Amino acid sequence: MAGHQSLRTHTCGELRPQHVGQRVTLAGWVHRRRDHGHLSFLDLRDRYGITQVVTSSDEAPAAHQAGADARNEWVIQVSGAVRHRPDGTTNPDLPTGEVEVAVDELTVLNESKVPPFYINEEQPGLEEALRLQYRYLDLRRPPMRERMLLRARLASAIRRELEAEDFVEVETPLLIRSTPEGARDFVVPSRLQAGQFYALPQSPQQLKQLLMVAGYDRYYQMAHCMRDEDSRKDRGPEFTQVDIEMSFVREEDVMATVEAMVTAVTGAVVPDRQIRETPFPRLTYQDALARYGSDKPDLRFGMDLVDLSDAVRDAAFRVFADALAAGGAVYAIRAEGCGGYSRKQLHELTDLAKRHGAGGLVHLSVESDGSLRGPTAKFLEASGTAVRTATGAGPGDLLLIVADGDRVTAATALGQLRLEMGERLGLRDPAVLAYVWVYRFPMFKWDRDLNRWDATHNPFSAPVWEEAERMEADPESVHAQQYDLALNGWELGGGSIRIHRRDLLERAFALMGHTVEGMRDQFGALLDALEYGAPPHGGIAIGVERWVALLANQENIREVTAFPKTQSGSDLMLGAPSPIDDQQLAELHLRLDLED
Ligand code: ASP
Repeated sequence: MAGHQSLRTHTCGELRPQHVGQRVTLAGWVHRRRDHGHLSFLDLRDRYGITQVVTSSDEAPAAHQAGADARNEWVIQVSGAVRHRPDGTTNPDLPTGEVEVAVDELTVLNESKVPPFYINEEQPGLEEALRLQYRYLDLRRPPMRERMLLRARLASAIRRELEAEDFVEVETPLLIRSTPEGARDFVVPSRLQAGQFYALPQSPQQLKQLLMVAGYDRYYQMAHCMRDEDSRKDRGPEFTQVDIEMSFVREEDVMATVEAMVTAVTGAVVPDRQIRETPFPRLTYQDALARYGSDKPDLRFGMDLVDLSDAVRDAAFRVFADALAAGGAVYAIRAEGCGGYSRKQLHELTDLAKRHGAGGLVHLSVESDGSLRGPTAKFLEASGTAVRTATGAGPGDLLLIVADGDRVTAATALGQLRLEMGERLGLRDPAVLAYVWVYRFPMFKWDRDLNRWDATHNPFSAPVWEEAERMEADPESVHAQQYDLALNGWELGGGSIRIHRRDLLERAFALMGHTVEGMRDQFGALLDALEYGAPPHGGIAIGVERWVALLANQENIREVTAFPKTQSGSDLMLGAPSPIDDQQLAELHLRLDLED
């Protein structure tokens, strides 16, 4: 029930046989109408559901006449008695399907133009641009509405779970100074301070750490974040994350707390979906890469990568020999029963491997006598048994093999093939939710362009404490206390234990190429704060859109965002971005240079 309202007594999702005999008033949109001589049947729709209402020229001619023009999407109000639908006309698909309202009064509250697309049914081939331009009509469509309601239930469950665990929500500002998260900032020019700019937060990272220094102990926020980077299916220029920070914790504590929240929220929001494994499996980054070729593995199926390096070490095959000599690896996956794949299919897979960085793809099918068949089989004859044993391949199977002088490249390319084969073989069960933790990431990676070390994740992440000592001497060997949460092959979130001592943070920053002045300028507040009793702390952020998309079985986060931007960052409904007038520019002390 939507509470007391004077324009209606009930919602369109509410009436049941128990209401038969009551006089009610409903208001909503005409979902569909059918005219049968002196009777008109209107399906009336609102957020809560659909109720059939009937006007009759015999029983209530004025009401029948008032509704005669009402077409789809007109907004009307009806009053009348609730009655059972006649035998044989009940609709078991509708919760209200046993009853109807016999209308004695009908008011048109507003008319509607014919919408640019169907609201009341799916329209195959409907262009997304049109949906985005008329997003208010798109959001009115029941499947969109269901996704938005799911999103709201998710947000509400998150809040409930976190608050039960003593987390406090603190809002942080949108006009801040740049906090690096690896993307470009959106900036806002200051009118009051000529030539100065605010940055919109890529995340509230520094602020949540400062809240720990302030003693708030457990913080969360449904934080709006903005990153000026190219959009993809799982990434838009602005998004929401459940942002969390905790004091006096180790990695284990954050992971356990988040896991409990995620499990409870999943159960509350999508009780029918099965979580594949609890406690969530935990893989080191190294294992995730070696077994699944990904730091966000899809654990709904096996098809683990097999390291064939030893099995093929003596094979007379240049590609493998070169890769191994360069210190790389040869990885394989076994696609069961795919030995009969056509040239075309194998060509597609080779293309896919190349697009993901592999030099090529070796494919072998296992014949009924156990021998290997494929363009390169003759080179591998001597290693055939070892290859079959290592992969467990039997007659009818297909082996896909990638070799590269760089282990990560080989594993990553094959990881993509694993996903593709999982998809083709129907192994990625859409009903299952496979959460998995990946942790122990390398702390630094070498940035070839900038000629310096860079943080693999968050520049504030702490090294594994015992490894901190060798940070300068051997940066590559140091791991971060960083953990990512993945779900069905998507990175859902990530976080870390932070450095809470100034000297250590300065050392990490120095490795990343910051000068002392540069650090003071960019991170002065946080560095200073670490000298005023900063407790050990750590946190995480989880992407809300990705989470909802996965729970709603959607592949694109725009499907779970009320008012998303297009791929090129436009709001097609409001027409943003847009030019501003000269006076506004002058007030902001800006002059445009649009030559190129
Ligand atoms: N600030 C990080 C991010 O937005 C998350 C974290 O480390 O807590 O990805």
